[in-house]
Amino acid sequence: MFTPDPQKILIVDDSMSNIMMLKESLSDFNCIAATSGNQALLLAKQDKKPDLILLDIVMKGMDGYEVCMELKKDPLTLDIPVIFLSSQDDADSLVKGFNVGAVDFIGKPFHEDELTVRVNNQLKFKKSLDNNALYLKSIEDIYDTITDSMYYAQKIQQATLPHKDYMDRVLDEYFVFYKPRDIVSGDFYLVHEIDNKVLLVAADCTGHGVPGALMSMMSMALINEMINIENKYTPNEILNQLRYIIIDTFNAEGKDEITDGLDASIIVIDKAQNEAVFSGANSPLYLVRDGELIEYKGDRMPVGIYPTQTPFTKHKIELKENDCIYLSSDGYADQFGGESNRKMMLKPFKEVLASGSYLHMKEQEERINKHFSDWKGYNEQVDDVLVMGYRYKG
Ligand SMILES: [Mg+2]
Repeated sequence: MFTPDPQKILIVDDSMSNIMMLKESLSDFNCIAATSGNQALLLAKQDKKPDLILLDIVMKGMDGYEVCMELKKDPLTLDIPVIFLSSQDDADSLVKGFNVGAVDFIGKPFHEDELTVRVNNQLKFKKSLDNNALYLKSIEDIYDTITDSMYYAQKIQQATLPHKDYMDRVLDEYFVFYKPRDIVSGDFYLVHEIDNKVLLVAADCTGHGVPGALMSMMSMALINEMINIENKYTPNEILNQLRYIIIDTFNAEGKDEITDGLDASIIVIDKAQNEAVFSGANSPLYLVRDGELIEYKGDRMPVGIYPTQTPFTKHKIELKENDCIYLSSDGYADQFGGESNRKMMLKPFKEVLASGSYLHMKEQEERINKHFSDWKGYNEQVDDVLVMGYRYKG
């Protein structure tokens, strides 16, 4: 069985006979001794520092007060409790002793039981402080390890999102306002160009942080596979198939049932036909034409387990040059802030989109960003945030 080392006490007294008496009374502890202030200061800084110092006040050379002040000045010895041992037990001496940092006083000649009780009290207190410091250190270590791995995960997640060069080429005038709440995000977006068709996805997986990020990585991979390998470009078919796979994966026999899923908006824009097809799972599409916002509501069900699991609806949209198309997750409008510290809600969000639609997409992004941070103020961000904007130029 593991037996912890006995706690270490440094006895400082210029009389050897006092040291011998104290050592005998404290024989259960690991006692070391110093016969002068200077020697005491050296022993207090040893690798294994004492847990308690019993310090005589009247000594040749440095007196106990000076030694105590030196100990409290040095960060290495600052936290070692000091008990004064002295025949000077008048109120002034006690006050002076406490003022220089002592935790207790024992009068000389000492009573053995009183000495043991006072020493034990201070050692118990010291032990609990040491334990707290150890717990704090281990929590800091765990925090550092998790944070490092989250930042690495963030790099991986960002590498899987569409690259800027690709989006610049395919979309021309667009923005992606992407603001994870934690280091990694449950929101994700996709951009694909196939045969004069442009496919945009904005999705919001259940939760945020690591569980949200894992869901988003899985969902992205599944959608990419449907598009690149199965040549599926129909939004409702993608949502239907994604739901089927997610439910099947998470609820196969023998696995714990996971009810997570995602909300998503998918639009496929056919440039040749000036039309688009949109499907949404708990997520709308906004189209702003000549300053007027038109909302295409998605189906009121997620991609995942839900009481209604009817096929997702396919909305056909005729497009005109200069139409602004917006896809988003719920994080923007759900943000708390403003004067009465409440949710922003959708109305102000839609107003920002409609009123800024005459601006270049990059300027719109700045406005959307500013509106969000002005609203949020000093509040914490409540969810991952994603808003995508695209100007259709035919
Ligand atoms: Mg969300």
